[in-house]
Amino acid sequence: MSDEAPLEVAPPDISSHRGAGPIPYLHRLPARDGAPGPHAVISAIVHGDEPCGAVVLDRLLRADFRPSRGALTLIFGNPEAYRRTGPGARLGVRAAVEDLNRLWGPEVLTAPVRSPEHARAKALAPEIATADALLDLHSMIGDGPAMILAGREAKGLALARRLGAPRDIVMDFGHADGVRMRDFGRFADPTDPATALLVECGPHYRARTVACAVETAARFLAALDMLPEDGAVLPRPPAPAAAQRVLEVTHRTTPETQAFRFVEDFQGGECIPRAGTVVAHDGTDAVATPYDGCVLIMPTPNAAPGRTAVRFAREVRT
Ligand SMILES: [Zn+2]
Repeated sequence: MSDEAPLEVAPPDISSHRGAGPIPYLHRLPARDGAPGPHAVISAIVHGDEPCGAVVLDRLLRADFRPSRGALTLIFGNPEAYRRTGPGARLGVRAAVEDLNRLWGPEVLTAPVRSPEHARAKALAPEIATADALLDLHSMIGDGPAMILAGREAKGLALARRLGAPRDIVMDFGHADGVRMRDFGRFADPTDPATALLVECGPHYRARTVACAVETAARFLAALDMLPEDGAVLPRPPAPAAAQRVLEVTHRTTPETQAFRFVEDFQGGECIPRAGTVVAHDGTDAVATPYDGCVLIMPTPNAAPGRTAVRFAREVRT
C-alpha cells in the first residue's frame, strides 16, 4: 500500500492519554473489584505510523475500560514518532530516531541513553517485565492477510491458538538488527510462562486493520479470562471464520546491496508453488524460493542492507 492510498482511518488524537503517572502514555487498569488475575499488557504504536492499536487503546481509555480480573496495562509505545508528520503530510512516522522494536536485548537496555526510542524502551522495560502476557499491535506495508507472529516457543503457539484468529500463525525468529519487545526477557525463555504475541493486523490506515486490532484485543483478553461479560466496550469476539494454519519461518532474507528489488509487487501471504522460483534480485544475485509451497512473509520493498526484506515460511501440520 503506497503513501498515496486513501486514508480509511484517521489516527486518533492521543494527547489526552499522556496520563499523570511516572511513565507518560502508560495506563495500568486494575479490575474494578480487585479480583486477582494475570497482568496483561496491550501495546500500540511501537511504530509511530501504525495507528490501529492507538484506536483500540483510545477506545478503551475513553470508556474507562477495566478487565474482569487482574490488571491490564495499556502502552502507547512511541507517541513522539506518532505525532510527527510523515510522508504525504500523514500523521506518524515509523520512528523518530531508531526502531523502538529492536532495542529489547539486555546489553542494549543497560547501555547509556542514545535516542528517544532507547530512553522509552529503558523506561517501559520494568513495566513490561512484570507482564504475564503481552499483545503488541502492529500493521504492515503490504495488503496481505493479518497474522500472529508467535515466535519459536510452544507457549506462543498455544496462546495464538487460544486467540483463535487471525488465521495465520507465523512461528518466526527475530531480526538480525535487534531484539523485539515480543522477545524481551521472560518472553523468550521457554521455561517461563510469560508469553508475548505480535499481531500484524493488516495494511496501515485501513478500516479492516482497525477492526482486526479491536477484535484481537478482545480475543487476547478472552483467552486470559479477563474480558468482561457485558461486552460493553469490547464485544465478545465471534467464533473464528476459519481454522488457523501454522507457518514456520525457515529463512530470512537481508539485502547485501542497495539494489534489492522484488520481481513482483508482492503483498505478503503469497504461496510460491515451485522451489527455485526467483522472487527478488539483490544486485546481480537472484533470490529464489528454497522449497515448493513457500509462503512469503511481509515483503518489504526498498529494504536497506542488513534489514529484513522478506521471510520464507512453510505450512506445518501440528
Ligand atoms: Zn510495526
